Amino acid sequence: MGAYDPQEMATPEAFRTNPQLVWDWHVHLAETIRQAKPNAGHEAIARMQDFGPRITVLTTNIDGLHQAAGSRNIAELHGTLARLKGFSDPEAQQGGEKFAACQLCGGMTRAENCNPAFDPTGIAPIKLVTGPVPHCPACGLLLRPGIVWFGEPLEERFDRFAYMVATTCDALICIGTRRMCGRSCGFHGLPSMKA
Ligand SMILES: [Zn+2]
Repeated sequence: MGAYDPQEMATPEAFRTNPQLVWDWHVHLAETIRQAKPNAGHEAIARMQDFGPRITVLTTNIDGLHQAAGSRNIAELHGTLARLKGFSDPEAQQGGEKFAACQLCGGMTRAENCNPAFDPTGIAPIKLVTGPVPHCPACGLLLRPGIVWFGEPLEERFDRFAYMVATTCDALICIGTRRMCGRSCGFHGLPSMKA
């Protein structure tokens, strides 16, 4: 699975074309990540939070390593592989039918398809593991990794939160990013900073 280019696999188009291949690729990615350990950078940020003033971590990482290092107040702007969400197919929504967000998986689905009377634990017990691509038990949509794929915008709530934090904080430290995170990223338009 490692032979595939992430920019080809981590896209809604790839999932629409071959959901099982994209699912299997993400399973492999998650297994690789599970073997990773926090590095000195993750540890340093966590220790800063131990001793410093209130620090919010805005991360585009999807690997959970900030949590593993002991950080709190983390906003995972690009989501996480630890959760799934419903796959909203934009092409399927072009027929003029009424679509609504499924209460269980969040995916856009035909309103009459969604039965919210399912287990209140929702889709949390369904994990990114080897096997057929699972479906949402309420609406039937395919479930996908709960991350932002290439070509997708940030969720609006994260976009707003990141911008609010970045524009109201006393100090902003950018680590390991060129701030090239797409047009919807909350950092877009902030003045350039030099280390
Ligand atoms: Zn659903």
